[in-house]
Amino acid sequence: MATTQTVLSHWIHGREENSRSGRDGAVTNSATGEVVTRVPFADAEEVDAAVQAAAAAAPAWESASLSERTRVMFAFRELLHERRDEMARLVTLEHGKVTADAQGEVQRELELVEFACGLSELLKGEHSWQVSRGVDSYTLRQPVGVVAGITPFNFPSMVPGWMFPLAIAAGNTFVLKPSEQDPSASMMLAQLLAEAGLPDGVFNVVHGDREAVDALLTHPRVNAVSFVGSSPVARHIYETATRHGKRAQALGGAKNHAVVLPDADLDYAADQIVAGAYGSSGQRCMAVSAVVTVGDAGDALVAKIAERLDRLVVGPGDEPDSEVGPLISAAARDRVRSLIDAGLEEGAELVCDGRGVTVEGHEQGFFVGPTLFDRVGTDMRVYQEEIFGPVLVVNRASSLDDAIALVNANPWGNGAAVFTRDGGAARSFELRVSAGMVGINVPIPVPMSYYSFGGWKASLFGDIHMHGPEGVRFYTRGKVVSSRWPQGGDTKIDLAFPTAT
Ligand code: NAD
Repeated sequence: MATTQTVLSHWIHGREENSRSGRDGAVTNSATGEVVTRVPFADAEEVDAAVQAAAAAAPAWESASLSERTRVMFAFRELLHERRDEMARLVTLEHGKVTADAQGEVQRELELVEFACGLSELLKGEHSWQVSRGVDSYTLRQPVGVVAGITPFNFPSMVPGWMFPLAIAAGNTFVLKPSEQDPSASMMLAQLLAEAGLPDGVFNVVHGDREAVDALLTHPRVNAVSFVGSSPVARHIYETATRHGKRAQALGGAKNHAVVLPDADLDYAADQIVAGAYGSSGQRCMAVSAVVTVGDAGDALVAKIAERLDRLVVGPGDEPDSEVGPLISAAARDRVRSLIDAGLEEGAELVCDGRGVTVEGHEQGFFVGPTLFDRVGTDMRVYQEEIFGPVLVVNRASSLDDAIALVNANPWGNGAAVFTRDGGAARSFELRVSAGMVGINVPIPVPMSYYSFGGWKASLFGDIHMHGPEGVRFYTRGKVVSSRWPQGGDTKIDLAFPTAT
């Protein structure tokens, strides 16, 4: 229940709206464990108010000229750029990621907005003159209406940025339900959009938990749902939203493999894998979480990774030397520690153990140190579960074929990488691996804003990826117009199926 601490508001129809639901939760500074604010949990009535605001704003926004919409997007891009450090500080405060990482998140978001600024190009249709005598055909891409976005804690600024810039640029209106664990970034986005001249009601924020999400998924005025989060919730979102007649895309969790062949530059591979596995304390959907070494690459690579882990600095995100920040919550820290216990019990070889790590002056922070398991079996929990912490597991394979078979047997398929100097092996990997995003000597192959982002298998429910060209498709409905302007002359009734003449 609410205490004397500040409680965030929702953002509905261009202004802050206090919640009356009577339910809220704590938002903590992950580095200290202190409560920084509280977040309201919307009830169905509050969700309805946000959706109605978005629905009311839709006709005027959809009819705004492409130039008007472009001007708002450019103004928003400028404001976010000016205040990017402030946004990064907010991300570090509530999420815990280190400053350079938070700045990278905001930079990626800026690029997503820049892509959406090109809306006049992106929304162009096709035109064919004279498809039949006197008949022209052309396509329109029209907005879908009210879009709901539901986002995870691990990129509180960027992942909403996968969704709303393109959705709004395409003429839709938007209701964002951000993660309740670090919700303040979304309020800053709302304020910047308003300052940029976005009309009231086009972008709304409702905070909350499952109750708010389910109210969005079943609301008759919501036309499309974009979700990013864990796989069980992604499945629930996709099934519920589509059952209620909405188009849906739901990105889920991951176990991203990096396959290292014996001919790879092992120092380079170790550097890249450490960055990919332990950046953001492993709380990235594209984190490298499993390494598969082929042949005799294993011993040398594990030694090189372990050596690098000894030098990583664990500390609060706002201290300049820190490289590995805290986890998002005490519950996340305890879960990660218990999974490390499970790995030991199941017989994996614990090469580096981060369970005992504490940070001086931050004893109540949610820290776990870099942890490395070798000789992990695919039947072990540390392999089967998405740990979402600074824990890397190493599996051993005897050939590239075995390594690919291991990766492809995993239920997730977000990203996969291969480290090698052999172009033929890399090409074979790229063609055969079951994953939506592939890195060749690149550990976290996150596509740029002008490509689309999405995984395969349990990493994506639905079939359209996010942002880039597929994002434009998701946030628009296609229409084909066939048009004739009769000029008088011969006319007759012909009941045969029409063909081009
Ligand atoms: P989460 O699934 O717990 O929460 C995501 C969102 O869903 C939040 O807004 C949350 O409030 C809501 N939610 C949680 N439980 C719900 C329920 N039972 N019913 C309805 N809504 C519910 O995810 P998280 O812990 O915030 O984020 C981490 C997860 O997100 C990881 O699994 C990570 O891999 C995944 N992720 C995936 C991608 C991707 O692109 N595939 C990107 C980022 C994060």
